[in-house]
Amino acid sequence: MKTPKILVAAVFTSGLAAGLYLANQEVTMILPVAAQSEKDKPEVSPVLARPRDTYYPNSEDLAPDEMRVIACGTGMPTTRASQAAACFLVELGNGDKFIFDIGSGSAERLSSLQIPYDYLDKIFIGHLHGDHFGALGEMFIGGAIMGRHKPLRIWGPSGPVPELGTAHAIKGMEQMYTWDLAGRAGMIDFRGFKVEVNEFNYKAENAAIYEENGVTIRSFPAIHAIDGPVSFSLEWNDLKFVFSSDSYPNKWFLEYAKDADILIHECFIAAPDLVTKLKFNPETALIVGTQIHTAPEAFGKIMSEVKPRMAVAYHFFKDFDTTAAVNDRIRKTYNGPLSLAEDFMVWNVTKDDIKVRMAVVEEATWAPPAGTPAGPPNPADKEQFAKDKGVPAEALQYSELIAGGFWGGVEDALRGIYKEASEALGQEFVYPADQKAKDK
Ligand SMILES: [Zn+2]
Ligand SMILES: [Zn+2]
Repeated sequence: MKTPKILVAAVFTSGLAAGLYLANQEVTMILPVAAQSEKDKPEVSPVLARPRDTYYPNSEDLAPDEMRVIACGTGMPTTRASQAAACFLVELGNGDKFIFDIGSGSAERLSSLQIPYDYLDKIFIGHLHGDHFGALGEMFIGGAIMGRHKPLRIWGPSGPVPELGTAHAIKGMEQMYTWDLAGRAGMIDFRGFKVEVNEFNYKAENAAIYEENGVTIRSFPAIHAIDGPVSFSLEWNDLKFVFSSDSYPNKWFLEYAKDADILIHECFIAAPDLVTKLKFNPETALIVGTQIHTAPEAFGKIMSEVKPRMAVAYHFFKDFDTTAAVNDRIRKTYNGPLSLAEDFMVWNVTKDDIKVRMAVVEEATWAPPAGTPAGPPNPADKEQFAKDKGVPAEALQYSELIAGGFWGGVEDALRGIYKEASEALGQEFVYPADQKAKDK
């Protein structure tokens, strides 16, 4: 994937009056610290950093009253290098972070934001389509390996029957990873390889499903495919974020999205492009593009009704030959502030201002700064895992055949690494085979 283009936010916020736009610019400029304290210094200087229109992860503090939203997936079920599927990260000035939907391909977007994984432990899933929770496994396994040494907390709706609910889906995911987990228990800090599932009633209207640390997250029903999908609102510090996940325009959204500062709603690719670009047949394009999802014209109607401070459209392939159609169709029914989302778009939201920028990310990110340090492996985890899963403990040991295949030719070389570590860290690490011989 190429590093995303640096885009000037103004392109995506058309509809603001020029005066308002200019007024916003004054508020949004990020001045270097030195210039902030010495206002009379010239704005252009050969030695001071200039205000910038890009967001570099892990380089800006959030103000105590500020919310930052980052698009980590804005596309469709078919992920591609330029766009992952649905995922939005919300970061708050109190330090809390929330993930809304975790669509296929979004985990690598999250990783490039250089956030310690133990802060990425709360995921809210609007519905159980793959493009809204397809990267959950990567966050579950990869997140635990990378430093989330506590259970992954997941919130998601019930379904019309238990088999169609979030708890069932997550149980299935854990089952799918049985071998993966069995192979890690006892070998690595195992605290993160657990999930906490909070399934809530999909029919509840504006019910609080999360209330911690001054943050309230509510859910309300959405209309999409079959019963089960929901939309979310997050309120904190007099700021309101609303996320539709997927839905046909509905009465609950109009009611409970009111007073949103930033409102993210799905907006599907224009129907003609579903036929010409996605090769849908016309009947399918019309059903999917207008009845299962929200067409751009309908997206505009919702925004004209709810009037958020910033409307964000996502869930379409945003290409040179599709974006104009989406924009034109939205503008038939809405003329307020608008962002046509793409991956790595960033919104900084305060009561006075909403600043829209693109993030510039490092493609080859290493592990983000560690949150809580990893502990040593605990052999007891293996036994416990066998017990929990109802498999014989021997099944988690190598069989005689496999154990007999170890090549002794590397042992001296490997022993050297243990010696090296022992000397470097001033602690004795005993080579496993030697330990075994000692124990006998
Ligand atoms: Zn969906
Ligand atoms: Zn979707």
